Amino acid sequence: MSTTPSFWLDQLGSRPSRPALAGDREADVCIVGGGFTGLWTAYELKRAEPSLVVVVLEAHQVGFGASGRNGGWVLGKLSGSAEAWRARGGPGAPRAMVRAIQQTVEEVGAVVALENIECDWTHGGTVTVAQSDTQLARLHAQAEAERRDLGEDLAWEVLDADQVSARVRVAGAKGGLYSPHCARVQPARLVDGLAAAVERAGATIYEQSAVTRIEPGLAMTRGGDVRARYVLRATEGYTADMPGEHRALLPMNSSMIVTEPLPDSEWARIGWDGAETMLDGSYLYTYSQRTADGRIAIGGRGVPYRFGSRTDREGPVPARTIGELRARLTALFPSLVDIGVARGWHGILGVARDWCPTVALDPATGLGAAGGYTGEGVAASNLAARTLRDLVLGRDTDLSRLPWVGRPARNWEPEPLRFIGARGIYTLYRLADHEERVRHQESRIAGLANRIAGR
Ligand SMILES: Cc1cc2nc3c(=O)[nH]c(=O)nc-3n(C[C@H](O)[C@H](O)[C@H](O)COP(=O)(O)OP(=O)(O)OC[C@H]3O[C@@H](n4cnc5c(N)ncnc54)[C@H](O)[C@@H]3O)c2cc1C
Repeated sequence: MSTTPSFWLDQLGSRPSRPALAGDREADVCIVGGGFTGLWTAYELKRAEPSLVVVVLEAHQVGFGASGRNGGWVLGKLSGSAEAWRARGGPGAPRAMVRAIQQTVEEVGAVVALENIECDWTHGGTVTVAQSDTQLARLHAQAEAERRDLGEDLAWEVLDADQVSARVRVAGAKGGLYSPHCARVQPARLVDGLAAAVERAGATIYEQSAVTRIEPGLAMTRGGDVRARYVLRATEGYTADMPGEHRALLPMNSSMIVTEPLPDSEWARIGWDGAETMLDGSYLYTYSQRTADGRIAIGGRGVPYRFGSRTDREGPVPARTIGELRARLTALFPSLVDIGVARGWHGILGVARDWCPTVALDPATGLGAAGGYTGEGVAASNLAARTLRDLVLGRDTDLSRLPWVGRPARNWEPEPLRFIGARGIYTLYRLADHEERVRHQESRIAGLANRIAGR
C-alpha cells in the first residue's frame, strides 16, 4: 500500500519532515512553493548572492506537487507555439526561447554533477515515434516548421524507421523525430537532492506551511508570517487556489503508470539502451521513460480537468485511465501484454491561456511568479529560476530580456466555459486519433481542437 503521491516518492522511502514556520520572521526573499521552481530559485539566488536571506514555504513536503510525480523528462523544449511566442516577444522570440531552454539541459546536468545529486541522470535525448503514415506526415511537417521558425541548428532531426528501431523497437514504427536535448531522471530524487543543496547553500525550507495570502512584502501562513522585500510565487498547478489567481493558470491533470521490472529478454527485444525519453505521435500522446531499475513509466492526460479548477488529485487514478495507459503501452510494445503494473498516480500542472510559460517580477511591489509550463517544466523551471534570479538582483542579462519575462497571458474563461473548453479539447483530440486510425488520413477535427485551445 503506497503512502506517497507517486511511485518516485515511494522510492525515496520515509522522509523526515522539515519544521513548519512557527512565528514571524524576516527575509530578503520569500518563495512560496517547494517544487522545482521554488527550489531552483532559492538555489540560484543563494549561489549568486550568498548573503541573501532566502526562505521557502511549502504547504506539504518538498516535491509534493508535480515535481515529485512527473515523467522525469528534463526536456529542452518549451510549451507554446511559435506564433504565440512571436505575439509575446516579436519575430526573434521563438528562437531566443528555444536556444535558452536547449542550453538548460546541460545547465541542470552540471548542477546534478556539482551537487552529487543521485537521480538516475542519463542524457540520452528524446525520440518521437510515428506508428502510422499520418502521424509521420505530421512529424515531418513539425520538423519543417521548426526549420523555418527556429533555423536548422535548433530544429529536431528526422529519423526513418530503421533509425527509430536502432534506438527503441516500437511496433510498426514508421519513423520519427529526435533531439539530443533531453535527459531522463528519477524526478523525486532530483527534487529531494535539490532541496538538500538549497539548504547547504544556506536557505531555509519550512514544510507543512501553506501560504494563505500574499501581499507586497508579506507571505502569511497559519503558523506565522514572513516579511520580505521579494515574495515569489512558485505554485504552478496549485495557483488556482491562491487568492486573486483563480483563473491565471488552468490546473491540468496528467496520469502515469509504472510497470514491474522487465526481464532481460524483453529488454533485448525492445532495445532502448540509450534511455531516450519517448513520445508517441498521436494527438492524445503518451510520454515514457525506461527507468534506471528496468521498468517503463508511461503517462498521458487521463481525466484532463475538473470543474471549478479543482486541484485535489490525491485519490486513486481511475481504472479507465490505467487501462488506457496499459493499452497504449502494449500498442508500443505488444510483447508486454502480461507485464504487471506496479503503481499508478496523477498530478497537476499549470497551463496559461496562450500555452506559454511566464516569469514575472514587479520591482515596485517585489511580487514575482513563474510557471505555466504546461507539462514541460522540469528543465523550464531551472531556466525560470535563473531568470527570476537576474530580475531580483536587478541584472540586465540575456535571461532578464527573454520574451517570457513580464508578459502573462490573459485569464482563462469563467465556468462553465472553462470546463466545456478544457474537456472539449481533449475529447476532440481523442476523436481525431480515432478518425486517423479508421480513415488513414490527416484528421480535420484536431485543427478544431487547436483553434478552441488557442494554441
Ligand atoms: C504526471 C506528470 C508528468 C509530468 N511529466 C513531465 C516531464 O516528464 N517533463 C517535464 O518537463 N514536465 C513534466 N511535468 C510537469 C512538471 O512536473 C512541472 O512543470 C514542474 O514540476 C513544475 O514545478 P513547480 O515547482 O512549478 O510546481 P510543483 O512541483 O507543482 O510545486 C508547487 C508546490 O507548491 C506547493 N504549494 C501550493 N500551494 C501552496 C501554498 N499556498 N503555500 C505553500 N506551498 C504551496 C505545492 O505543495 C507544491 O509542492 C509533468 C507533470 C505531471 C503532473
